[in-house]
This record gives sequence, structure tokens and C-alpha cells, in this order.
Amino acid sequence: MTASTEIDIKSLVRTIPDYPKPGIMFRDVTTLFGHPSGFRASVEQLVAPFQDQRVESVAGIEARGFILGGAAADRMHCGFVPIRKKGKLPAKAIGQEYELEYGVDVIEIHEDALSPGEPVLLVDDLIATGGTAVAAVELLRQLKAEVVGAAFVIDLPDLGGSARLTELGVPCHTLMAFE
Ligand code: AMP
Repeated sequence: MTASTEIDIKSLVRTIPDYPKPGIMFRDVTTLFGHPSGFRASVEQLVAPFQDQRVESVAGIEARGFILGGAAADRMHCGFVPIRKKGKLPAKAIGQEYELEYGVDVIEIHEDALSPGEPVLLVDDLIATGGTAVAAVELLRQLKAEVVGAAFVIDLPDLGGSARLTELGVPCHTLMAFE
């Protein structure tokens, strides 16, 4: 029996009301990641739909996407590519703006991180409005990589992010949803 079939991973996500500000229900995955079979089951389930596809790299979004993406890359025998907040990558990088509730932010990827046509899986812990993930897909496509899909532990479907990715032609795989 695999870790995936033994455990209710949703029950391991901790919800913190009004963090980081009033009205936000923060879905804290540190309790899931800190649970040995919970973390393993999450990674197994995250990569399951992509196991039989050609994937050469996993791209993870800073910071919780690094934890999941690194484990997913290891499981899929892939390389790992970090997508970071502006100014953190040491070599030449390209950037993409995305909208926050107030203002904009920028994520970056090394310009030589992927080859044209390289099949890549995008990973993060949670998709809400999809602003971050859509910007990440733009970066991967600027490098002419083939985005085979995107995988998240948590979907907040009411905020529309997973639907935005589907509209962009990126199959979106999520393990659980919260209202
Ligand atoms: P978005 O760009 O709106 O899809 O937001 C996704 C990013 O913000 C992810 O990296 C999440 O870790 C973080 N995030 C957004 N909303 C929440 C939430 N309710 N709980 C925890 N993390 C969140």
C-alpha cells in the first residue's frame, strides 16, 4: 500500500483565520509537510497524473513550491528549476510581473534554465487567483519550454486560478479544494 492510500491529507492542512490580514483564511501546509506519510502522500499524488508523460524538469515557485517541487523532481527523475522573487537568482534572468491585491510583484527564472521544447511540470503549494502561476507559465513559455501541466496541493476554486490555467491550455491538477 502506498502512503497515498493510507492518509487523509486534507485533515493535515492547518487553517489560520485572519492571517496575514483580516478576512484571509491562510491554508498552512507546514503541518502537512511536517507529517512523514502526509508529505510523502502529497508528493505521490501530485506527480501521479504526470508519471507516464515525458517530463524533463519540474519548476517550483518560491518558497513552498521549492519543497514540493524538489521532492516531485526527485520522484520523477527530473531536474529542478527555481522560479524566484525578483533579485534572488544569481545568473542572468528574465522576469514577469503579476498583480497583487495592491500593486504588482515580479518573479524570475534563469534565462538558460530550460531548453526550447523541454517538457516541464509547474509546482506550487496553492493556487488562488492564479496570478503567480499564470506569470510562471509566461516565463516558462518565454523560454519556449512545453508546459505539460501544473500541480498544486490546494485549490481555492472560487478565486478562479485553476480555471485560468485551463484556459491557457495548461492542465491543472490539484489534490484538495477549500471554499
Ligand atoms: P495567487 O497568485 O493568487 O494564485 O496566490 C498563490 C500564492 O499565494 C501561492 O504561492 C500561495 O502560497 C499563496 N497564497 C494565496 N492565498 C493563500 C491562502 N489563502 N493560504 C495560503 N497561501 C496562500
